[in-house]
Amino acid sequence: MVTILEGAIKLPIVKADLNLCQGYANCVMEAPEFFDIDDEGLVVILQEKFDEDKRAHVESAARSCPVSALRVEDE
Ligand code: SF4
Repeated sequence: MVTILEGAIKLPIVKADLNLCQGYANCVMEAPEFFDIDDEGLVVILQEKFDEDKRAHVESAARSCPVSALRVEDE
């Protein structure tokens, strides 16, 4: 019998520091399915949690941010 523990699968998560974001939109150009810019010119995260196979893509977009406003964590 297989028991699935709720919460046992941890997904990577991306977070933004809106105090740092300057709206350069590098992240949007790199990964438009994850990031957008709102009317205030600040990043909007469209998909906070994502599958492990997207980690390199999201981390690359995070590294493209000139002010290091994005970070990928493990939930
Ligand atoms: S690249 Fe950085 S500064 Fe530019 S919109 Fe994205 S989070 Fe904000």
